[in-house]
Amino acid sequence: MSSDSGVQVLVRVRPPSKGEEEGDPIVEKISSNSISILDHTFTFDSVADTSSTQGDIFRLVGLPLVEKCLAGFNSSIFAYGQTGSGKTYTMWGPPSALSEDSSSSEWGLTPRVFERLFSRINEEQAKHSDKQLNYQCHCSFLETSNEQITDLLDPTQKNLQIREDVKAGIYVDCLTEEYVYTMKDVIRLLTKVH
Ligand code: ADP
Ligand code: MG
Repeated sequence: MSSDSGVQVLVRVRPPSKGEEEGDPIVEKISSNSISILDHTFTFDSVADTSSTQGDIFRLVGLPLVEKCLAGFNSSIFAYGQTGSGKTYTMWGPPSALSEDSSSSEWGLTPRVFERLFSRINEEQAKHSDKQLNYQCHCSFLETSNEQITDLLDPTQKNLQIREDVKAGIYVDCLTEEYVYTMKDVIRLLTKVH
């Protein structure tokens, strides 16, 4: 099932939107990890069809990622697809999802990953309270577009440079880093950049 390459590919098929409902869909999930398009079958690490919920995607992608992070691995999620295919929906949720009066059931991966990360950190700290274990989380958000890197936490910074350092590795110079301690801190930042 899971490969050792360190990279996992999941395909999510979104439900048809208004105007797309006519005719039969040509994409069909045929097993937990394969789809057919017309007469071709494609296999991935997993396939989530139109009935998949935000929670399902979190369990498939987000949960293992948080555990890998806590085990010391750098981890990233990369959303790829044409405009309108559901990248923003999957990574963040619908536009209203982070507002105070909406429920977290529509949350996309990003808020769910942070929520889980904080609860796991609390768990670990309680479990190892004798060892003075201390976790620190800080967030950066950036956008790359037309070869330019913009700092989304400080949009006046529009042309940041990528640098490499023997100790720090590859990093973006002058990118804002904000410390976050609770889900409230994260939501404040997410609503700022989103
Ligand atoms: P992208 O970011 O890839 O351009 P969006 O995430 O904005 O695409 O999705 C396009 C539209 O489809 C949005 O209105 C979004 O709310 C809706 N959508 C995407 N994925 C789903 C899904 N799994 N379930 C319901 N609506 C979805
Ligand atoms: Mg988008």
